[in-house]
Amino acid sequence: MELINCLLLLGEAVIYFTVMAALFRIRARVGIGLFVCVLGVMHFVETYLASVFYVALPFGIISPGSTVLFSGKLMMLLLLYIKEDAALVRQPIYGLLVGNFLVVVLAFILRQHEVAPLGNGRLPDFSFINEMGVLMVWGTTLLFIDAIALILLYERFGRTLSAWPTIRIGGAAACVLTFDHIGFYAALRFLVDAPITVFVGGLIAKISAAVVFSAMMVAYLRWFERPGSERAAPLGDVFQLLTYRERYEALVDEAGRDSLTKLLHRGSFARVGSERFERWRSAGQPLSLLVIDVDHFKQINDRYGHPTGDAVLARLADILTRCASPDDHVFRIGGEEFAILTTTPHDVARLLGEKIRAAVHEFAANSDFSVTVSVGLASASPETTSIEAVFADADRRLYAAKRGGRDRVHSDASLDATESVSTPRRPPMQEAERRVGAA
Ligand code: GH3
Ligand code: MG
Ligand code: MG
Repeated sequence: MELINCLLLLGEAVIYFTVMAALFRIRARVGIGLFVCVLGVMHFVETYLASVFYVALPFGIISPGSTVLFSGKLMMLLLLYIKEDAALVRQPIYGLLVGNFLVVVLAFILRQHEVAPLGNGRLPDFSFINEMGVLMVWGTTLLFIDAIALILLYERFGRTLSAWPTIRIGGAAACVLTFDHIGFYAALRFLVDAPITVFVGGLIAKISAAVVFSAMMVAYLRWFERPGSERAAPLGDVFQLLTYRERYEALVDEAGRDSLTKLLHRGSFARVGSERFERWRSAGQPLSLLVIDVDHFKQINDRYGHPTGDAVLARLADILTRCASPDDHVFRIGGEEFAILTTTPHDVARLLGEKIRAAVHEFAANSDFSVTVSVGLASASPETTSIEAVFADADRRLYAAKRGGRDRVHSDASLDATESVSTPRRPPMQEAERRVGAA
């Protein structure tokens, strides 16, 4: 019988893992909520089983709730962390904590009812509800600590064991489950005077569970989680259709944006620019445009590679957004060219240009990249007839700034490039060569 119990437990673990892993596998199609919800349901059953359901194994008495469902749930949280991220795994960890405390609070209020017996004379088992309540509070608190400890240990073991994932995952799980078992047994001993065979049996069972689950998890990660193997969602599910409205709204917002920098793109400039130009013409609201081009950006790509170039562009986009005020519109006009449409007069906009130049200097001083920007500024005036004309003026001044030596704001049509209003602290080429040479 004891051997049959062992086999039954193994069967339970395999079925549990297979279903959970399958739900996890299709997360890109159906969403991660399905997986997390099933995890929550299992948690309730597990607490029930851990308080009343024990079976005999050759080495002691164990609870399938703790051995299969509790250990399995920790492994699922780790899987979520490994394949997704800390922000996502935090959700079920906190959710289980809050959910269980809510159950306990509700159970406490329920106890205050005067219960009406059903026809068959059955009444709720209050001692069982009390016991389970205590176990829930204690088990949930332990689970919270366990889940965080498991992730931290997994990270810690990664320094030495990254080549042996089964030992890394299994080792972290075995440590945490041992800690957990000591804590959980203490509660069982206190509540129901559980015999020592429950401690020994449970410990061996949990460590065996760590081994079995980590082997299954590594196999799953190796065979089913290859990057890029997830297909797009098919249509035909009613819930898929219901998500269209929100997706549509998100798309409308995203459509005018550039995917790398999340700034508005060239296409949006025509629309937003015309709107603002109309407002300038009808209401006299000031309108200025800064066109900003990164100096010698090609050198950054050549020196550090395109992906690093992309990262620098994304940082520059952040800098521009931070320098601009919430009313301004920031665009990525082309590769390494940006624009800011601002409802400020020319002189104020020129200060914005200087602020940007200074912020880029600060970024360069704190990074490996020798990066500066040139800025051309133009404002709508009684002579301007369209937003395109303002853009053409700003663009012309940008090129004057480039000719004048780069790293400067050119804002005055009457000034020659070399007499521009601001000058660099140091010739950028020289600086770039110094840095590249030093690197
Ligand atoms: P300057 O403007 O000062 O005259 O020199 P530059 O080197 O910045 O100018 P150029 O127009 O010759 O080169 C622009 C470079 O920007 C060339 C292109 O490889 C790079 N670039 C354009 N778009 C992207 C992008 O999305 N990502 C990366 N990494 N590079 C880009
Ligand atoms: Mg450039
Ligand atoms: Mg350019």
